[in-house]
Amino acid sequence: MPTETFEFQVEARQLLQLMIHSVYSNKDVFLRELVSNASDALDKLRLAALRHDGLDADTSDLHIEIEADPDARTLTVRDNGIGMSYDEVGKLIGTIANSGTAEFLKELREAQDAAGAEGLIGQFGVGFYSGFMVADEMTLVTRRAGESSGTRWSSRGEGTYTLETVDDAPQGTAVTLHLKPADPENQLHDYTSTWTIKEIVKRYSDFITWPIRLVPGTKGEGEDTPEPETLNSMKALWARSRDEVSDDEYHELYKHVSHDWRDPLETIRLQAEGTFEYQALLFLPEHAPHDLFTRDFRRGLQLYVKRVLIMDDCEALLPPYLRFVKGVVDAQDLSLNVSREILQQDRHIRMIQRRLTKKVLASVKEMKAADSAKYATFWREFGAVVKEGLLGDPDNRDAILAVASFASTHSEDEPTTLQQYVERMKDGQDDIYYMTGESRQSIENSPHMEAFRARGVEVLLLTDPVDEVWVDAVGEFDGKRLRSVAKGEIDLDVQGDEQTEGEREKQAEEYAGLLGWMKEQLGEDVKDVRLSTRLTVSPACVVSDAHDLTPALENMYRAMGQ
Ligand code: ADP
Ligand code: MG
Repeated sequence: MPTETFEFQVEARQLLQLMIHSVYSNKDVFLRELVSNASDALDKLRLAALRHDGLDADTSDLHIEIEADPDARTLTVRDNGIGMSYDEVGKLIGTIANSGTAEFLKELREAQDAAGAEGLIGQFGVGFYSGFMVADEMTLVTRRAGESSGTRWSSRGEGTYTLETVDDAPQGTAVTLHLKPADPENQLHDYTSTWTIKEIVKRYSDFITWPIRLVPGTKGEGEDTPEPETLNSMKALWARSRDEVSDDEYHELYKHVSHDWRDPLETIRLQAEGTFEYQALLFLPEHAPHDLFTRDFRRGLQLYVKRVLIMDDCEALLPPYLRFVKGVVDAQDLSLNVSREILQQDRHIRMIQRRLTKKVLASVKEMKAADSAKYATFWREFGAVVKEGLLGDPDNRDAILAVASFASTHSEDEPTTLQQYVERMKDGQDDIYYMTGESRQSIENSPHMEAFRARGVEVLLLTDPVDEVWVDAVGEFDGKRLRSVAKGEIDLDVQGDEQTEGEREKQAEEYAGLLGWMKEQLGEDVKDVRLSTRLTVSPACVVSDAHDLTPALENMYRAMGQ
């Protein structure tokens, strides 16, 4: 087959441009990305072999190799992993298959500073392209395990790339960078220097579970060919004690597992001893990904069995409302070729799930007590997901409510917990009041709020879709009912309310005629017309019965066709 030339997809081209005119100050991380991809490819091959996929592939010495050629100014990262087919190369390398990319690029253009842009890029797995920060040309030769011919991909990172079929490619993938001239002032180091390579691997990729070998340079006269040197310790961070591992090392593991370029917000460790032994290293990201609420959201929780990765994206380890948690769980006594279906039923896995759930919620609680800014970030990014647990996980309801906070009329910018709300309740106030809606502003403008504002009664302002549902499911907190200000009869009989029972009866008599007339006029459209204590300015408002759907829910069900 002749060499074919293709154009990068528009989004891919935009990202490449960003890479070439790099927004990253730290260019060394390109090597971390290539090693990370190589490591993923080795994991995938071993998983395929474990599942007996009938691959005709050599898995006897899986490893990563780095080879530098100072004269040609090239650097090659090679693995003998799963490799890619001709079509896969075009699909995986030539396009960005992420649905949120357009949205992301828009945000990127709006990002005010380089640091913001750098953070944003990290979410989109542009790992491979980062090579163009240091190279003016990249070549990739790959052969998918089990296939007979390979593929050569090459690009200068501009508008196009070429693809051709090659016959003699070894199994796996080799990525060769044609390096730009070193320019230390712009953080562009000499990446053919053995010392520099060792440094970078040690710093970013030490924990990688596959050997990363440095191919020795050409031998001198009369010398023996030197042995390749393994650069990484391959120590599983989760199996080491806390004081042996630096925060930076944890953070690099997080980046490898999550494909995020930023540091995590929080690191959570758990080592369970006893009959069923396992270790967990979990991370809370700092930012919610764009696709968190979509069906194809990929979790980043990996399951290992005795240091061997057996499942990426293992959904059985945590409940859906903690799906944003990234990390590694390494269990001692599981079968290596256990399937997803079996995992869901497994008693031990369910035990792990319960324990990890409690641990994550406890960590958030600690964070809340110790570092309110960090907690605020966490809740802003993930609160809407965590609240799903109020419906799905009744056992942990109290633990979730203890870490939940809500916007409230009490303060413009400080959210409140339910506990704090209860402590501020007025004498004579029996219930916790809330109102749901699209935004704080739309709720505050609602006539339902008038009486509460006038009497200084605090109202929780709930704006996440899930809020419509959990308030009913939970029903009460600390013996106080959760009540919508837009539903049923509201009797704001708190202190300072001047109207007496007698006055109210008198008023009802006076207006009986008018109310009757209005009821007649509105006919079938309303159930009842009542005098109200809720309003101070607006003449009238529409109220649902206590057990009716709220308008927002009604809209939601209607949209779903129910
Ligand atoms: P990510 O690793 O976040 O998916 P990358 O840009 O780093 O994004 O890589 C894109 C895709 O290209 C990978 O998901 C993988 O499918 C493929 N790929 C990259 N490098 C390799 C490799 N060494 N071996 C096999 N596949 C690879
Ligand atoms: Mg990658």
